Amino acid sequence: MGKPTGFIEFPRNAAPYRPPEERLLDFNEIYTDHDIERLNTQGARCMDCGIPFCQSEEGCPVHNLIPEWNDLVFRDQWRDALDRLHKTNNFPEFTGRVCPAPCEGACVLGITDPAVTIKNIEMAIIDRGFAEGWVTPNTPSVRSDKKVAIVGSGPAGLAAADQLNKAGHNVTVYERADRVGGLLMYGIPNMKLAKNDVVERRVQLMRDAGIEFVTNTEVADGDNGSIAVDALRSTNDAVLLTTGATVPRDLPIPGRELSGVHFAMDFLSANTKSLLDSDLQDQAHISAKDKNVIVIGGGDTGTDCIGTSLRHGCKSLVNFELFPQPPEDRAANNPWPTWPKIFRVDYGHEEARARQGEDPRVYSVSSLCFIGDDNGQLTGVRTVEVVMQDGKFENVPGTEKDWPADLVFLAMGFLGPEHAVSDPLGLDYDARSNYQAEYGRYTTNVEKVFAAGDCRRGQSLVVRAINEGREAAREIDRFLMGTTELP
Ligand SMILES: Cc1cc2nc3c(=O)[nH]c(=O)nc-3n(C[C@H](O)[C@H](O)[C@H](O)COP(=O)(O)OP(=O)(O)OC[C@H]3O[C@@H](n4cnc5c(N)ncnc54)[C@H](O)[C@@H]3O)c2cc1C
Ligand code: SF4
Repeated sequence: MGKPTGFIEFPRNAAPYRPPEERLLDFNEIYTDHDIERLNTQGARCMDCGIPFCQSEEGCPVHNLIPEWNDLVFRDQWRDALDRLHKTNNFPEFTGRVCPAPCEGACVLGITDPAVTIKNIEMAIIDRGFAEGWVTPNTPSVRSDKKVAIVGSGPAGLAAADQLNKAGHNVTVYERADRVGGLLMYGIPNMKLAKNDVVERRVQLMRDAGIEFVTNTEVADGDNGSIAVDALRSTNDAVLLTTGATVPRDLPIPGRELSGVHFAMDFLSANTKSLLDSDLQDQAHISAKDKNVIVIGGGDTGTDCIGTSLRHGCKSLVNFELFPQPPEDRAANNPWPTWPKIFRVDYGHEEARARQGEDPRVYSVSSLCFIGDDNGQLTGVRTVEVVMQDGKFENVPGTEKDWPADLVFLAMGFLGPEHAVSDPLGLDYDARSNYQAEYGRYTTNVEKVFAAGDCRRGQSLVVRAINEGREAAREIDRFLMGTTELP
């Protein structure tokens, strides 16, 4: 245990982000340098609980050994802390930056006091590991004769590749985008997760460890330049599908066809690609500069659209939410250690407040139609206020309102995976159109084919995708070798 009285002596003191006025001027990461003294003190707040809920089912999905590394950080034993962290998490530099930290929602200290700053400590341990040169390729000493193809290079595919490679198998990852990383690369924006310095750094380590990455390559039915998934299946000993939940939810109201209405991912992906290719000079992205922007839908995707639009220099920004504003504190039906569904101010909201003087979110509104001019260009959105009655949203008469808009980004979640790779295989789907594969086993109805991550469970979190990738690797290793030592 850190310091037996640490949780009484020290208040929570989370690492600040860079000031919004400063960070809005660039796409660099929002984080500040690690303050070692602060981290030691925060590690000392951990109570080393008899039952560490932070690393249980309700807490960390990869079951990070949180109290152990909190203690090691308090004692300044950073190398040992890194070893403990890597035991359960292949990519703490991703989760330490982007995870919403369900561990902190389940921290026992959270019953009476603000939780330990677990996520800050995780990020500091891995960043220190890279800075000290302690993070090296996981090259296996012995290779098996087994070949595994992984389709999709998001966190689920990467975690599975890392684990299977460690077990000595020959792994090739196929990715249709030009860069590796899935939503780590082309979803979550640079200011939350740096691409070259953080994502590509890890991918290069994996290349150095012997994993092959094939980019710009769609795996489907073999037509239109794609690789046939059947061929992949016959030339490999196992195939793992980690293709993500990429079908966005649409808003089919009148005016949807107007120019200026976009899916959030079309905005975010093109922005990151253009940023990496040319520092936004190639104009191959949707620019929000001097535009009235409305983001429909919240969550991480909505926040990222807000942060990106503000960095472009949008004229105004509003964010519509269908649901009412969440409470400041946990509701009675949302007790500890469940994930707290409370009002939060994420980085994009803080930036909008700094730029516009008020929070951009408008709650309990439903969009009725998009308004356009004679040229088919979007000029506004008509909304109505809604209330929840008998489990359904009802419009409030007389509350219709028109909002000016040149750009609308639809950030209303995702419906499930595309089926270009699964239909040719004859894969079974669940009721939500996800690939059917039992949690914990990851086998599909097709011999040798496994599925994990968002394509199996629906859009979720990076840490859950890492967990599924690790577990699927374990099951593939068992399938290939009859037994497994992977966790
Ligand atoms: C904008 C946005 C922001 C997010 N922010 C956060 C956050 O802050 N924190 C968090 O924890 N989670 C966040 N998420 C969710 C998180 O990114 C996902 O849950 C996670 O990336 C899922 O991982 P995955 O490996 O299952 O799939 P993905 O990351 O979606 O990767 C799937 C990959 O498969 C590739 N692919 C698909 N089909 C084929 C094919 N036929 N052939 C070849 N390649 C193919 C795709 O190009 C993609 O690269 C965010 C999601 C979005 C959309
Ligand atoms: S991965 Fe997420 S849940 Fe797990 S310790 Fe890190 S921040 Fe917490």
